[in-house]
Amino acid sequence: MRAVRFYPDEQQVRLEQVDLREPRGDEVLVRVAGAGVCRSDLHIVDGEFPGFVSKPVTLGHEVAGVVEAMGPDVSGLRAGDGVAVMVGWGCGHCEWCVSGHEQLCPDGDEAGATCDGGFAELMLVPHRRHVVPLGELEPLAASPFGCAALSAYGAVKRVAPSVGAGHLAAVMGIGGLGEFALQLLGHLTGASIVAIDPRERARTRATELGAALAVEPAEAREAVEEASGGRGASAVIDFVGSDDTLALGASLVARRGVMALLGLAQGTLPFGFWTLAPEASLTTVLAGSVADLQDVVRLAHEGVVTSRVQPYPLEDAERAMSELRSGSVEGRAVLVPS
Ligand SMILES: [Zn+2]
Ligand SMILES: [Zn+2]
Repeated sequence: MRAVRFYPDEQQVRLEQVDLREPRGDEVLVRVAGAGVCRSDLHIVDGEFPGFVSKPVTLGHEVAGVVEAMGPDVSGLRAGDGVAVMVGWGCGHCEWCVSGHEQLCPDGDEAGATCDGGFAELMLVPHRRHVVPLGELEPLAASPFGCAALSAYGAVKRVAPSVGAGHLAAVMGIGGLGEFALQLLGHLTGASIVAIDPRERARTRATELGAALAVEPAEAREAVEEASGGRGASAVIDFVGSDDTLALGASLVARRGVMALLGLAQGTLPFGFWTLAPEASLTTVLAGSVADLQDVVRLAHEGVVTSRVQPYPLEDAERAMSELRSGSVEGRAVLVPS
């Protein structure tokens, strides 16, 4: 089968023919309908995670498809079932895994980084619990669920307890994840939302998705101040993570508010007593749990979560990555192998 492989020593991406063995035990072989291209993939090919990606690997961690075959120990799935694949694969035994938080497993794998992922025609998933059945949902449209929608859901769940009725939430970076966050914040919190993005097209999209205001970064402080009556944003979600967005987010967050960081732009924020409003908190969010992915699928069935995918053939993986890098992708760039 064809697969898009990354060679860390040469920092090169190649489309190659590779062999894949039959599934054993609890493994599930998925025929890939679509594999989302995530900013993490750009960080990997840029060599920014050198200790994490140390050997040649098939890229792609955001995958949906149909079950092609299963090991003999798998139950509750049939060949042909549509499934979304979970982004992180825990060991299954540690305290995080047994409490349902496999994304925090210190001994886990991530497809497309520490083991082969889904920029390929087929993907071998190590355990039945890492796939969530899609029912009637179309697998290609569900391909961004396993990372983009799941991470946005994880962020919204994390900040929701700080967002009361009539409060304001701010979202920085309206791209593949930000679009899902706008849908989920509106539905799960009822907050009034300020979307912040330098790109005009992204701001237009934010307004379509229910943001009360969509502003450039330079206008954000004044907009939040005015829209919240001086209170500030009870929640700020940063999908960029640069020095600039972190500093801006810290200036927007309200007393006892929370700022959640998901963007991997490698920015930092000096932390001291006056960095944030009193008793505000900072947190990172690392995707979500399998139960969260099940929630995302349920919310998609209910029409709350909808995705926009921009398809690319597998051989155009590098073009998809460069268009993501330049900010010209509409919704989520998704590689479609067939
Ligand atoms: Zn991702
Ligand atoms: Zn574990």
